[in-house]
Amino acid sequence: MANLLWMHGGACNGNTQSFLNADEPTVIDLVRDFGINILYHHSISMEFGHQVQHLLEQILSDEIPLDILVFEGTVIQGPNGTGRYDMFHERPKKDWIWELAHKANFVVAVGDCACWGGIPATKPNPSESVGLQYLKGERGGFLGKDFRSKAGLPVINIPGCPAHPDWVTQILVAVATGRLEDIQLDELQRPQTFFKTFTQTGCTRVQYFEWKEPVEEFGQGTRKGCLFYEQGCRGPLTHSPCNRILWNRQSSKTRSGMPCIGCTEPQFPFFDLAPGTVFKTQKVLGSIPKEVPPGVDSLSYSISAAVSRAAAPKWAKEEMFVP
Ligand code: SF4
Ligand code: SF4
Repeated sequence: MANLLWMHGGACNGNTQSFLNADEPTVIDLVRDFGINILYHHSISMEFGHQVQHLLEQILSDEIPLDILVFEGTVIQGPNGTGRYDMFHERPKKDWIWELAHKANFVVAVGDCACWGGIPATKPNPSESVGLQYLKGERGGFLGKDFRSKAGLPVINIPGCPAHPDWVTQILVAVATGRLEDIQLDELQRPQTFFKTFTQTGCTRVQYFEWKEPVEEFGQGTRKGCLFYEQGCRGPLTHSPCNRILWNRQSSKTRSGMPCIGCTEPQFPFFDLAPGTVFKTQKVLGSIPKEVPPGVDSLSYSISAAVSRAAAPKWAKEEMFVP
């Protein structure tokens, strides 16, 4: 039996909504089949008020062991570092989180806000929000860069806005059942099993990416073509399995014609882009995408793009629809 506590900071609750929609495994499977005992979750537990306070105090006094602390949302440190914008039982919530994180065997950050600060931590960041172990791409965050939970791991980051529900439940199962080999972390502390590949892997438009055939205008999502060249798709620049583990077991943004906006990366929501250009590919010299896939420089890319486009087979230019 693994005791799990889910705490909530500065966030919209989107990751909870996602979590409750998990399919493989479901939240019920976690409890029934994988031995996870949910001590408290703000949306599904019966306890509230002083009952929760009592529970947290029992954890902090070692009466109840805490195996997994899951945190959703940012740690709010404002105003002026006091944390008083987000109080929980007469204490800044950040103080609870600090102490609980140091009691837990594993600490799991769910969603961009908990991982890197997400939208609330975007400048000017009036709530002084921060992620558990990162602020945007900079390691440190609330717990500090050297933080390790009792089991010796840093915070396990499961990013996304929100995170896909099955990424969350599958990592929780791996942690609860001691399958630590399944949660080898990348340089941003994301489980490699989900975040090693690019969002593009499995996209049904990838042949049009290769032949440099674009969807020209937004709203022509089901037409043939790739969304990278004109619509700002970040699929080749973003690490996620959105086209391997489909949303609702059905589809993905890019499959359905919506460009990937890079929601699993620390810099999301990319507010440094010029206003109104999220769905417009930023270019240099009029035609070369400003950001090209990693491992290739802009010049080589533009040469290969010109060659590929010229060599594209007839079918790649024919009018057709993609699923
Ligand atoms: S639509 Fe996006 S994810 Fe799909 S192939 Fe094009 S760039 Fe890659
Ligand atoms: S396709 Fe891109 S923006 Fe959409 S959920 Fe996946 S990583 Fe996030």
